[in-house]
Amino acid sequence: MSALLALSQAALDGVAEGVCVYDADNRVVLFNRRYLELFDMSPDVIRTGITYRQVLEHSASRGNFPADRFEQIWRARAELLSARKPFSTEQVLPSGIVMTLNIQPLSDGGWLTVCDDITRRARLESALRVQTERIEHAFAHMSHGLTMFDRDERLIICNSQYLEVYGFDAGVIKPGVSYREIVEHWVSRGNASGLSAEKLYDMQMSEIRGGNSQPTFLTRADGRVVQAISRLMPNGGWVTACEDVTERLRAEEALKRQNFLFDAALENMANGLCVYDKDFRLLVRNSNYLKIYGLAPHEAKPGMHLSDLIRTVVGHGVYPADFPIDALFEELRQRLSQMKDLTVQRRMCDGRLLAVRYRPLTDGNCVATYEDITDRERAHEELGEQYRRFDAALNNMTQGLVMLDSNLHVIVCNKRYVDMYRLSPDVVKPGVAMREIMEHSCAIGNHPTATPQQLYDDYVEKLRRGGHILHRHLGDGRIIKLTHRPMEHGGGWVITYEDVTEHRKAEARVAHMAQHDPLTDLSNRVLFREKMSGGLAEIAARGGKMAVLCLDLDNFKTVNDRLGHAIGDQLLRWVAARIKECVGENDTVARLGGDEFAVLQRGPQPQSAEQLARRLVEVIGRPPPLENHVIHTGVSVGIAIAPDDGLDPDELMKCADLALYQAKAQGRGAYELFRPEMEAQARARHILENDLRCALEAGEFHLAFQPQIRLGTGELTGFEALLRWNSAARGLVSPAEFIPIAEETGLIVPLGEWVLRTACATAAGWPDNIKIAVNLSPVQFRARGLVAMVTSALAAAGLDPKRLELEVTETALLQDDEATVAVLHQLRKLGIRVSLDDFGVGYSSLGYLRKFPFDTIKIDRSFVGSLGESHESGAIVRTIASLGANLGVETTAEGVETAEQLELVRQAGCTAVQGFYFSKPCSAGDVGHIIEQMNPVHRVA
Ligand code: C2E
Ligand code: CA
Ligand code: CA
Repeated sequence: MSALLALSQAALDGVAEGVCVYDADNRVVLFNRRYLELFDMSPDVIRTGITYRQVLEHSASRGNFPADRFEQIWRARAELLSARKPFSTEQVLPSGIVMTLNIQPLSDGGWLTVCDDITRRARLESALRVQTERIEHAFAHMSHGLTMFDRDERLIICNSQYLEVYGFDAGVIKPGVSYREIVEHWVSRGNASGLSAEKLYDMQMSEIRGGNSQPTFLTRADGRVVQAISRLMPNGGWVTACEDVTERLRAEEALKRQNFLFDAALENMANGLCVYDKDFRLLVRNSNYLKIYGLAPHEAKPGMHLSDLIRTVVGHGVYPADFPIDALFEELRQRLSQMKDLTVQRRMCDGRLLAVRYRPLTDGNCVATYEDITDRERAHEELGEQYRRFDAALNNMTQGLVMLDSNLHVIVCNKRYVDMYRLSPDVVKPGVAMREIMEHSCAIGNHPTATPQQLYDDYVEKLRRGGHILHRHLGDGRIIKLTHRPMEHGGGWVITYEDVTEHRKAEARVAHMAQHDPLTDLSNRVLFREKMSGGLAEIAARGGKMAVLCLDLDNFKTVNDRLGHAIGDQLLRWVAARIKECVGENDTVARLGGDEFAVLQRGPQPQSAEQLARRLVEVIGRPPPLENHVIHTGVSVGIAIAPDDGLDPDELMKCADLALYQAKAQGRGAYELFRPEMEAQARARHILENDLRCALEAGEFHLAFQPQIRLGTGELTGFEALLRWNSAARGLVSPAEFIPIAEETGLIVPLGEWVLRTACATAAGWPDNIKIAVNLSPVQFRARGLVAMVTSALAAAGLDPKRLELEVTETALLQDDEATVAVLHQLRKLGIRVSLDDFGVGYSSLGYLRKFPFDTIKIDRSFVGSLGESHESGAIVRTIASLGANLGVETTAEGVETAEQLELVRQAGCTAVQGFYFSKPCSAGDVGHIIEQMNPVHRVA
């Protein structure tokens, strides 16, 4: 036994582990040396038979565990032992030795403890752990997803990026899960659309197993792309590195596109382009570059030096041989070193002009562009020419012109504008703000009523509303018309300036002229009517009275005809001035035409109007101060009162005219207020006029004949034909009543012709020595064809012209002297005698006697009638008679009613007589009887 024990002991001592065996009483049965060594326990203490507690106490005393924890450890061990189950624990001893302690219950109730120094292993393990941690750390922090599978395709390890890259659920993807399950899981989440899990798995596995380590790409449900590279491991498993390459692919795509665009841009740009490196070696060039210089592709290859390229070009004769290469490079280096561009223009041998621009790049390279600017230069020249023309046009236009940009700054303006406003050219320049110009313009006094701010604000506001025209009244009185038109492009404005001062004045003049009489500057008929309408409207609305006075000058026509239009005009102006003097300042004076004037007068009526009329008659009745002429003129006035006589302007005018007509009928220098009966009179006159018109055709006229007797011999020399109207409606009408109306209406012309023809025809049946005298109205002189008519009447009657005497009055001579005298001469040439009728009334100018040698002067019967009573009449008759005797002209006294009168005219020296004393005018039928009867008169005389 002891031998066996010794043997066992020897064997035990030979093993590397410490071994100790306890019996069922927990007493040491057997132990080896290693056991003591491991715990640094003494063989003196540890002997067979000592208890486990004693062993522990000793171990504690050796410092293998803290003494104060002894009881705690003991109790734990005792419990473990009593459980009789194997267990192992690890213990680090103070010596640094790491121990494993294995306790194994034995069948005899004892137990065995085996202790092993695992310090080295523990160290290895710790190192391994650190290593693992590092790997895990690396795993966790690497940018890639990384995963490792074993030969059974089960996941050994993966990092969170792996989960993230594929979008895996961390709860599903754990070590141990199979690759197939992973694929199924991924596909089930909608990834790798279009592929079944089965298919995807097969594809992936064949990739992995194929071992060619090529990247594979999978697309996630959200479109992101995962790239994976797998590598087989010797043990049959594999490692896969994966990565989300969505951005990278996009960037690559973008880059690809960019390169494409760059190439496209390069090749499609209009200009030639080269990139040179810092040594001027060609890096890139486009085909336009080759085209411009006519180079073949091999003549300009990357790597070639710029100077060589230029030499080739010169060699082709594109540039002259004296191309300054050295100068170019010198300048180029200098400019590029300062990071500045260099642009050179070169004329090519074929005349084209090239602009070459070298531009430094930040990476030290240099870009050169080559542009054929031949056309551009030509266009530029043309533009310059156009600009010069524009400039010439701009500065030669009569209008001022300014172009403003949308900020109201001057783009361009012309000199006329600057001059017009008298602006300083130092202020008004392209680019200056309109606001500044306005400040300047205000400062030099152009706009005395506005501040620059007001001016500008107003201006901006007007422009805001669009194109417009405005008129500026400058400080010096000029008026400038501004026309603002928006420019078609760019929102600016074109403004033209026109000095419309004269234009405006002319307009005002025209406006004035339209309403005023140029001769007297009085209102004209238009303005008068306007004022009258205004006045009448006011009366209608507010009451009050207004008079309309119509004025007609007496004898104006005579003055005009006798003294000429210049004097006539002078007279009219004088009359106008007198009227103006007489009226109130609120009254309106107008010249309605010819010698017609009118006055509108407010105030108490009719007193005021009558007062005015009296005054006008008096003042205008005074002789006007016309140089060297003594003229008697005067004025007749007709008055109508509103509202009494009407409220209608035309009606009122008519009333005033009727009153005027009446005033004139009364003779000179009278005024009349309108009375309603005037209308009746006018109507009656109107009817008379109408009757007169019909009378000729109705055969209501006949002639009466009054004998004319020569004094001296007492013989009957002829008859005067006197017109008689036996109106069916009104009986016998006196020629004194109807002749003036026939003259006014012009009826006297046909009527006078009838008289002449009838008189001639009648006289043709008389003895040859009996003459016929026919009265001619002045109106007949004014009508043309008098001579022809007389000739025709004589011819028709077959009457010797010598037997016809025509009686004309002075008034015939008053009009158009010369023409009348010419007609008289023509008549005289025919052999007709001409007498001056009604001599002594009217103007009785002896001048007429000198102008035409009348055959007879007929002394008006008003003198003859008053011969007995008035010395004056006697003197006049005597004077005329002796005048006639001196001139060798017959003098006939008219209206001799008594023997006394006959005696007086005979004594006065008259050569002939006519009058009731001898015979009243008698009918044609009585003429023969009278001729016979007159013989006794003859004898008596
Ligand atoms: P008259 O030419 O001076 O004609 C003479 C007028 O005096 C006639 O008036 C005649 O009847 C009138 N008379 C003749 N002797 C006497 C007399 O002793 N005492 C008075 N108190 N009167 C006498 P009558 O015929 O009424 O003509 C008036 C005027 O009408 C004429 O004045 C003449 O101017 C104009 N007249 C008459 N017939 C014609 C005519 O055929 N043509 C034109 N144009 N005028 C005419
Ligand atoms: Ca007569
Ligand atoms: Ca007469």
